[in-house]
Amino acid sequence: MTPLVDIGANLGNKAFREDLEAVLARSLAAGVGTIVLTGTSVPASRGAWELAEVARSPERSPRLFSTAGIHPHHASAHGADALVALRELCARREVLAVGECGLDFDRNFSPRAEQLQCFEAQLELAVELQLPVFLHERSAHLEFAEILARHRSRLVRAVVHCFTGTGGALARYLELDCHIGLTGWICDERRGTHLRELVSRIPADRLMIETDAPYILPRNIRPKPISNRNEPSLLPYVLRAVAKARGESPEELARSTTETAKAFFGITDRA
Ligand SMILES: [Zn+2]
Repeated sequence: MTPLVDIGANLGNKAFREDLEAVLARSLAAGVGTIVLTGTSVPASRGAWELAEVARSPERSPRLFSTAGIHPHHASAHGADALVALRELCARREVLAVGECGLDFDRNFSPRAEQLQCFEAQLELAVELQLPVFLHERSAHLEFAEILARHRSRLVRAVVHCFTGTGGALARYLELDCHIGLTGWICDERRGTHLRELVSRIPADRLMIETDAPYILPRNIRPKPISNRNEPSLLPYVLRAVAKARGESPEELARSTTETAKAFFGITDRA
């Protein structure tokens, strides 16, 4: 099977502090060849880059890259110098995209006005640097799509990560020429079943998969893991659920999602 690309994992999260080496080894053994570590704040983006930058043996770890951005939850905590720091990080070879950035009106950990400002500033940074953007949207589809539409023609590529929305939202994102990232949400029999109907509407060259580890543990793992922590080695559960919903073989979907992810992030086989 084609080695998988996990396009979003938070391996700098403290959940991985004790056993990151083992987590990476398991991921490689499970067929995950590349992981893009998600940056969620300036310090977390720096941490993600540092993890990606450490040379690791290809026998013991997937290839690691990272993104640099500020999650909407952290929008109010970022200072004026945050963009300077992100711009610096984006110059690193291992940093492949701006984000995650966007809007989260589900829990509103940061006030909406600050989320909007922080989101637009990062879209502008991505335009300036001509880097792809890694986008987060939760319960904010209309405002998010409106802002994205205004910047879209100047952005190179954009992925709506951990898509969990409606058919209408999906249609709008595809119309905006977005890529779509799918997580283990689709494995959730309580709240993810609507996605199973929708995923066949996503063209193969727009579809990528991710764990969003340590979050969103796939609920179709049997026997059920004792820990609630998700990790990239569990990406095949997402792959199989998405493949089943699309009526494709896991091998076929592995091939297309890896090809799409490499093209999206500009990952070449050597560098
Ligand atoms: Zn997110």
